[in-house]
Amino acid sequence: MAFDYDDNNIFAKILRNEIPNDTVAENEHALAFRDIRPQAPSHVLVIPKGRYVSYDDFAANASDAEIVGFTRLCAEAIAKEGVGLDSGGQGFRTVANTGVHGVQEVPHYHLHIMGGRVMGPMLA
Ligand code: 5GP
Repeated sequence: MAFDYDDNNIFAKILRNEIPNDTVAENEHALAFRDIRPQAPSHVLVIPKGRYVSYDDFAANASDAEIVGFTRLCAEAIAKEGVGLDSGGQGFRTVANTGVHGVQEVPHYHLHIMGGRVMGPMLA
């Protein structure tokens, strides 16, 4: 099975309220919270509440309701952070590090939303 999920990963513990988080927004399907080591003035992680290892696991296996719920929560977080073009901001970058080549640290799908500064070249 390509997408074996580890229930002991740090984001699973955040979803179970076993460790605290700085929540930006939440709905039935997803949670948005601040990254503990921010790489930009605004650095939010959005995670699904379902057990998905990675971007490709989520994209292939999540229900339509989960995908819509996740995407709408991204919009809410972007608006709350004031980085979106529709909320007076100057834009932002989204990143989904995936697997070994993507240098993914936490094996629960998460989308980074970073803004508040010019992000610079993308490849590193
Ligand atoms: P990845 O490299 O997997 O895409 O990124 C994982 C992100 O999770 C990193 O940016 C890291 O700072 C963040 N992170 C790791 N542990 C915690 C934690 O306990 N709380 C929060 N809020 N962020 C974390």
